[in-house]
Amino acid sequence: MPYVPGNAAEGYCLECKKDTVHTVLEVSGTQVRKVRCEKCGEEGPLRMPRHKTRAGLRAALQKNTVGTTKRRPRKPKEDPGQTFRQAIQGKDLTTAVDYSIRVSLTEGDLLKHKSFGIGVVTAITASDKATVLFEEGPRTMVFGRG
Ligand SMILES: [Zn+2]
Repeated sequence: MPYVPGNAAEGYCLECKKDTVHTVLEVSGTQVRKVRCEKCGEEGPLRMPRHKTRAGLRAALQKNTVGTTKRRPRKPKEDPGQTFRQAIQGKDLTTAVDYSIRVSLTEGDLLKHKSFGIGVVTAITASDKATVLFEEGPRTMVFGRG
């Protein structure tokens, strides 16, 4: 999928030392040239998310087996942020609206919340309530009041 500037892209951030949401800043042809981390603001080339690389898988496996010699290895814990980053992959972050109780929302809209960051509306559950998926997980948000 070709990116255009403003799109959300999942990538590994060297500053945050984890996979984060990045905003595409520069595109050349079909190649992303420059992105900005939404967490720390660091700008640079787009790096492959760790969970998609062999090194990332190895790290996840090693982490999971540390101190569990007597117990059975458990399944790697789901990273809640991974679902979120995949949900907003390729979306246009410039369309994200600043959250307030007065905004009007429809499914698929992007929100920018001052504590939770970028979120995507996954469902409208009532005339004034929406389920919004943030990096830390889904939340019910009130909207359309005032
Ligand atoms: Zn970062």
